[in-house]
Amino acid sequence: MIRKRTQVGIVGAGPAGLVLSHLLHLAGIESVILEARSRSEVESTLRAGVLEQGTVDLLTRCGVGERLQREGFVHHGIELRFGGQPHRIALSDLTGGRAITVYPQHEVIKDLVRARVDSGGTLVFEARDVSIHDYGSTRPRIRYVCANGDQELRCDFIAGCDGFHGGCRASVPARARTEYARHYPFGWFGILVRAAPYAAELIYAHHDRGFSLVSTRSPEVQRLYFQCAPNDDTAHWPDDRIWRELQARLQTTDDWRLERGDIFQKGIIAMRSFVVEPMQYGRLFLAGDAAHIVPPTGAKGLNLAVADVYILANALAEFYASGRKEGLERYSAAALERVWRAEHFSWWMTSMLHRFEDDPFQHRLQLAQLNYVTSSRAAATALAENYVGLPLTDGMSSAGQSALAPEALTTLAHLAVSARM
Ligand SMILES: Cc1cc2nc3c(=O)[nH]c(=O)nc-3n(C[C@H](O)[C@H](O)[C@H](O)COP(=O)(O)OP(=O)(O)OC[C@H]3O[C@@H](n4cnc5c(N)ncnc54)[C@H](O)[C@@H]3O)c2cc1C
Repeated sequence: MIRKRTQVGIVGAGPAGLVLSHLLHLAGIESVILEARSRSEVESTLRAGVLEQGTVDLLTRCGVGERLQREGFVHHGIELRFGGQPHRIALSDLTGGRAITVYPQHEVIKDLVRARVDSGGTLVFEARDVSIHDYGSTRPRIRYVCANGDQELRCDFIAGCDGFHGGCRASVPARARTEYARHYPFGWFGILVRAAPYAAELIYAHHDRGFSLVSTRSPEVQRLYFQCAPNDDTAHWPDDRIWRELQARLQTTDDWRLERGDIFQKGIIAMRSFVVEPMQYGRLFLAGDAAHIVPPTGAKGLNLAVADVYILANALAEFYASGRKEGLERYSAAALERVWRAEHFSWWMTSMLHRFEDDPFQHRLQLAQLNYVTSSRAAATALAENYVGLPLTDGMSSAGQSALAPEALTTLAHLAVSARM
């Protein structure tokens, strides 16, 4: 067995693992990322596309936002469509100029992988049989197998950034964790289409036939979703049926038309809410989807992953700079505060917009809520500030205080300097 050492061993090269590794590098802290998939697979998996203002600010200020700034689409509003009418939620007007940026997750991943490779970081792709050990002690270890044979990575801390199906959370004895879960009685049928953008802003449509979403990935590729049965099969949906269904759900009284394009990918995603508490066990810290899942209606998953590791990076920087453990001890509580806010928002958006079988009472409540959100400035503001994302916190501020991303980054930069001295 080949033995190596680093300060922080990171399992998973998704947004959580890569942003963490990059932030630690800025703070002068070594890390190694172990990823089960190949680099090309990681860089080509299409998933999220909506980045909160805080995520964009963080990526930009830590030097990986150049392409994002150039190629991302800044959206200042979204449309809620119901009763055949469009209703705009003016995100920026309602939140003091904050906005969302549409920039695909796999592009974020490419930018982060390149930044780590360029700065000499260690990323091990195609790491097999990754298992974590002794995280209850001060000498955690990660074992894995790669092209060079059996390996053992000794580290001070382990970051479990291995997504919902990864092994880190499952390695914690069941008695030590509490899991909260909700499954929804529907899924999302997603398609990728070669076509020009259908609308200037995202359209979230409520309809008797079910929810649908018009989103974008690039000037040439559009992302559309519609609510389907959770156990549905893409084979049941030839292209013509998909277009007819989407047109029916997106129909407006002034006859909005959806131009057909070439559908080149179809898939069905499950809808669930999930949180594990706590998010830390000794020297194992869970972050991102490894610790929580939201239904995609609120576009929060990637953003929550970034928010988690921002807190974790600050806590680790504080530890290596001063030996203080308070930030690390507070990590779970600090991260969970934002997690539960996002869980509520994602559940609320999902409940407001989807069709629930045979529940006319719920349907009337949804319309009442949609009418309120689109007619009351206070209600629209609540939606807007959650959608663009609450300011990132560094987890170091005293209870109840939130640091805006720029100030929080200054904290990290300050700690980075201290750590190098
Ligand atoms: C269709 C869809 C649309 C979405 N839209 C949005 C959106 O608009 N906005 C948003 O914010 N979020 C969205 N999300 C959610 C977002 O994609 C996730 O929340 C995000 O990817 C979480 O990042 P992560 O790093 O925690 O986990 P992941 O991205 O899942 O990364 C985990 C990594 O760990 C690796 N791994 C797993 N097991 C092991 C192991 N045993 N050993 C080593 N490596 C392992 C995996 O290969 C993977 O690369 C969407 C998700 C889906 C599916």
